[in-house]
Amino acid sequence: MLWKLKAMFKIKIAKSSGFCFGVKRAIQLARDTAQRHKKIFMLGDIVHNPRVVNDIKKMGIRKIRRLVKNGKRVLIIPAHGAPESVYHQARRKNYRIIDATCPMVKEIQAIAKRYEKRGYRIIIIGDATHDEVIGIKGNVRTTPVVISEKKDITVNRLRGIDRAVVVVQSTQNLEYIDHIFKKLKKIIRKIKFFNTICYPTRQKQKEIKLMPKINDAMVVIGAKSSANTKRLFEISKSINPNTFWVNSRNQLKKEWFIDKRRIGITAGASTPDYIIKEIKNQIKKFKAAG
Ligand code: SF4
Repeated sequence: MLWKLKAMFKIKIAKSSGFCFGVKRAIQLARDTAQRHKKIFMLGDIVHNPRVVNDIKKMGIRKIRRLVKNGKRVLIIPAHGAPESVYHQARRKNYRIIDATCPMVKEIQAIAKRYEKRGYRIIIIGDATHDEVIGIKGNVRTTPVVISEKKDITVNRLRGIDRAVVVVQSTQNLEYIDHIFKKLKKIIRKIKFFNTICYPTRQKQKEIKLMPKINDAMVVIGAKSSANTKRLFEISKSINPNTFWVNSRNQLKKEWFIDKRRIGITAGASTPDYIIKEIKNQIKKFKAAG
């Protein structure tokens, strides 16, 4: 019976699915900190997945929005980094800082600082409201220009910029930024471009350009707050309309998989393996139920 079922459908999980090294590192740091300290706080979400944030809360780490009190406390900086002012404020208020900022994000912040010192204007391609972009902005003294959409590139906004350095939010879409850069080059005389999209994001995007072509349906797993999951969903949906975005098995619908023989699964960088497994198992149950 089982062999018959297997012959009827196939589920393929993308090799690059799930946690990237930056998220793994942040969670491990949180775990180690929880074993060694008490009174631990995280500013916002350590990674963009409410279920992972919940797991972290269970370790005894509390989420806060602002640093309010003085006292011997520990503060974990999230994987996507924070503005310099957060570090200053935390030190002033006697927090011990555990920095879980991903090294790739640190590198983007360092490029921005280095070129600012050389007199370049900073341009960030990314979501203006995303923690990573807020963190990059908060690591330089001048005000960077943030380009979130193509329509943000207007001559008016860029008027007077003679030389600029462009950095990119680590989880942006590769093709999209190429297009933006070409437009910027026409407006700014001296421009340097650093493609700071991180390696795990590139790998995920490479796979997601192929998988929707060879599968009848695609399931993209991750939280709605996850920028890289959103990007994976958008790319997949543009190739295969039978693309569905969920973060738990309860959100799956049986009818999505009717008559679908090949089903592909991918997951954003902050999606743990146990969610991927539960979703795969639920799809199998739907198929077994016929
Ligand atoms: S997505 Fe990239 S930049 Fe973000 S935490 Fe993962 S490795 Fe680091």
